[in-house]
This record gives sequence, structure tokens and C-alpha cells, in this order.
Amino acid sequence: MNKKRILRITVLCIVIVLIGLLLFIPRIAPKTDDGKIKIVSTTFPTYDISRALAYGLSANIKMLVKPGVEIHEYDPSPQDIIDAQSADIFIYIGGESDAWVDKINFSENTLVIKLIDAVKTIAETDDTDKIDEHIWTSPTNYLSMLSYAKSQISAKYPELNTALYDNLSIYGETIRDLDQQYREAKITQPIIVADRFPFRYLAKEYQLDYIAAFPGCAEQTEANTETIAKMIDTVKKNQTPYIYTLEMSNTKIAQTIVDATNVKIRTLYSGHNLSQDDFNSGTTMAVIYERNLKALQES
Ligand SMILES: [Zn+2]
Repeated sequence: MNKKRILRITVLCIVIVLIGLLLFIPRIAPKTDDGKIKIVSTTFPTYDISRALAYGLSANIKMLVKPGVEIHEYDPSPQDIIDAQSADIFIYIGGESDAWVDKINFSENTLVIKLIDAVKTIAETDDTDKIDEHIWTSPTNYLSMLSYAKSQISAKYPELNTALYDNLSIYGETIRDLDQQYREAKITQPIIVADRFPFRYLAKEYQLDYIAAFPGCAEQTEANTETIAKMIDTVKKNQTPYIYTLEMSNTKIAQTIVDATNVKIRTLYSGHNLSQDDFNSGTTMAVIYERNLKALQES
């Protein structure tokens, strides 16, 4: 009798405790429902713009392309697609490398910001209509991209307008200052890039004369011998101290020129992506512009 009673009480206690747990344990909120604005960016420039504008705001910013990855070889993973679709703000460049974005169905809750709409585009070379997607390589363009992104975000979140405006002003001033420095630098010697050339916007904006192994981000890796000969001649004629290759690239063509002339190799940063180290240390696009200006001025 006593044993039965004890058992009954025990069972009752367990039931009460279970009901209590079900009622009072706080439900685990789904990841996207943390109250923060979820910003999903594709590549480094879009991440940099998001980070600058959302500074101090309650936002989660994700960059889909991992640091150190060659963006022209990027393919979105299923998780990347889910992240893009569940974003409050999705921000991308909108050039040929972002063709995958066109296939995504965004809900009306996602603000999609296409930055190429913020600038006047140019072709990759003089003899093609193919649009050059590397709009971010020019600080002047970058200012337009920042303002454009800010106004789009303000329209969706009017309550954040003041904070966004302040953030735009701060970063915009840094970029405007660099823009001025590029204009004042007056680099008159032709720059020799023994690599791909994603700097057409930069060259056009600041009237840089250049010879490059390939236009845009062409896939070929063997430059034609005529181009190499022209680069070697120019180095000899102008006694050019430095030629350039891009970050995360190989120096094969540059080495051919070095062997013929004793010129030295320096890096120009295209800013497509950052190395893991640069990403970890919080390198900004402003830092990339500074590095490039320094490298160009030394030439
Ligand atoms: Zn590219």
C-alpha cells in the first residue's frame, strides 16, 4: 500500500515538473529572429560598405565569399542561397560574377541593393560592349555606391536615417580625402600591370596611362608576346622602377619582365576579396586605396 502510494506521488511529481518545464522554459528563438538586421553581402566591397553604414547599429553582416577565395571561381552553396533569401538586406555588385543572383527569388521582405546601378558603367576594353564589373576600384565610384546603399537602407528603415547619415558622412569623408589624393598624385608614367587589369575605372577617373597583360579579369594566363615585348620596352625606356601584379595572383609574366630588365614587382590590390589575415585585422577599402596609391606613387 505504502509503496503504491509513494509511486503514485512520484509519478504525479514528475508530471507536474514536466508541465512546469513545458510552460516556463523560454522558447529558443530561431536564428534569424534575434532582432538584428540581417545583412548579406556577396564580396568584399559590398561587405565593406555594409559594415561602414551599419556601424553601431544592431545588425549581423555576412560576407558570402570567404576571405582568400578567388571570387571568379565562387559558386554559392545551398546555405548561401538560404542566407541570401532570409536576409533583410541583400547587397551585391550586379556584374557578370553575380549572374547567379538573377536566379534567386527574393521575398518582398528582402531589400535587394544592386550597386552597379549607382554608377556610370564602362566597357572592359575599347573594342567590346562587355560591361566592366569592377566599379569599386575607383574611390569616386565608391562614394556613389556608399550614398546609393545608404539611401536604399534609409527608405526601408527611416528610423535609422540619422545613424546611417552619420556613418555615411564619416566613411565618405575618408574616401573623399583619398579621391583627392589620387587627383593630386598626378601619376604621369604609364603603369605596367603584368597581370589582369580590373582597374579601368581607376585609370579613367585619374587619367592613368597603363599597359596590362590582360583586360578585366580575363581567364587567359598566357599573355601574347607582343604585349610582353611592349611592357619590357616601356620599362627600359622610362626606367620604370616597379611593375605590378595583383594580390592572390601569380607572378609568372612579371618574372619574364624582371628577367629582361631588373625591374621590381609590387602588388596592386583589386579588392575583389581580402586575404584571411587582412580580413581578420579589419582592413577596409580605404586601406586598399591607400596601399595602391602608395604603390603607384613609387613607380
Ligand atoms: Zn574581376
